[in-house]
Amino acid sequence: MREIRTVGVIGAGTMGNGIAHVFARAGFAVLLCDVAHHSLERGIGTIRKNLEREAAKGKITLDEVSAALARITSVLEREKLAGCDFVVEAATEKFEIKTAIFQDLDRILPRDVILATNTSSISITKLAAQTQRPEHVIGMHFFNPVPVMKLVEVVRGLATTQPVFEQVRDLAARLGKTPVEVNDAPGFVSNRVLMPLLNEAMYAVMEGVATPEAVDEVFKLGMAHPMGPLTLADFIGLDVCLDIMRVLQEGLGDPKYRPCPLLIKMVDAGWLGCKSGRGFYKYE
Ligand code: NAD
Repeated sequence: MREIRTVGVIGAGTMGNGIAHVFARAGFAVLLCDVAHHSLERGIGTIRKNLEREAAKGKITLDEVSAALARITSVLEREKLAGCDFVVEAATEKFEIKTAIFQDLDRILPRDVILATNTSSISITKLAAQTQRPEHVIGMHFFNPVPVMKLVEVVRGLATTQPVFEQVRDLAARLGKTPVEVNDAPGFVSNRVLMPLLNEAMYAVMEGVATPEAVDEVFKLGMAHPMGPLTLADFIGLDVCLDIMRVLQEGLGDPKYRPCPLLIKMVDAGWLGCKSGRGFYKYE
């Protein structure tokens, strides 16, 4: 197995900058790659801000902040990832975008380099089949915000080999995360179980069973959830919730996964949750 020293992270958005952050904190050299210059600038700015916040809380020293930042190099050209020992892709959730990235990486990188994806809903097996190294393709599903959330779902594609799985599982542990083994299936475990819960909470609101506030109170006080399902849906983004319900519906074929009509209507209205200022709640 190849020793992992330099890690490529593709996509410098919400997840990509968090993933670069945790690899750099764990001592890896990181090449952060995005097609948009402004995304790279914003991504590095977010990493700096988040590291400085950790320093302000006394969790790390200012020297550690500088050292972590110094380990990250931003690049626009994918060819510059040729020297990486491991790559994790966190680009926009579109199959065509990810296919192009994986085909390119497959061409650029030595055959024994593992290619991981942070996708929430695309089949690992199908992405792996776009490459000549399906046994070296795996899901490494982080949670938002990456520097804070402990879980990484390590998702085996149909062809992923045991040594590849073990190396990625151990890598997640080196980042201070808790890896959980999951097989490739629509929504993996996290979204397959979570999204129907959020969707059902929306049905309860749509059918007038209770207000969003009341539904959220039930889960906070009765089930000790830190955040109620409708607050969480607003935080995730209602468009993202709808996309994931459709993946479950298409992939699993069971009518129980049909998206709540209220969710569809809200997305049509442009009420996407926190990011658009309005969802089940209003935001300043
Ligand atoms: P985002 O929109 O914040 O960032 C995506 C980034 O990818 C953008 O900076 C964009 O410029 C870049 N990009 C697009 N095409 C590219 C290409 N060809 N090469 C390089 N960069 C490219 O999205 P995000 O929320 O960070 O999501 C990224 C991935 O992580 C998706 O697959 C998503 O499903 C997954 N994910 C998201 C969350 C979440 O809560 N946001 C959680 C887990 C997994």
